[in-house]
Amino acid sequence: MEQLWAPWRISYITKAAGGENEPCFICAVEASSNDRENLVVHRTTFSIVILNRFPYNNGHLLVAPRRHQGKFEELTAAELLDNLETVRRMVTCLQETMRPDGFNVGLNLGRSAGAGLPGHLHWHIVPRWVGDTNFMPVLGDVKVISQSLDSLWELLTRYLSGAAS
Ligand SMILES: [Zn+2]
Repeated sequence: MEQLWAPWRISYITKAAGGENEPCFICAVEASSNDRENLVVHRTTFSIVILNRFPYNNGHLLVAPRRHQGKFEELTAAELLDNLETVRRMVTCLQETMRPDGFNVGLNLGRSAGAGLPGHLHWHIVPRWVGDTNFMPVLGDVKVISQSLDSLWELLTRYLSGAAS
């Protein structure tokens, strides 16, 4: 089966981030209170969870430390634990709400490894369904994607607020 996971495709995000000298989009989202517009689905003490605006697949989430930090080895123990607990919670959330068959969970460290935003590390959580490798080419219409992201934001935030659990 063809693998959908292609970390180098994250270069899409570089455009959204505006390049290395532009403000970090994760920090911009972190500082804003408009979580719906920014597709922020969850915040914990040290972590922020954002729907990827340029998803590899439906339900693609980014989990990042709230603090601007690009070096994995410089995360504090508390940040690392909180990030990973959050990754686990979001996998459960996606499992319960979207019923995928599997997940890709990963971290791209450094531009050579495919990180589109190397200054602020972030875990990718990509839900997978059997036979989903042809999903992305179908999503040619940006309007369809943004509508689906908005309804997905509602679905996930409702679950996380406890209404659906
Ligand atoms: Zn940042």
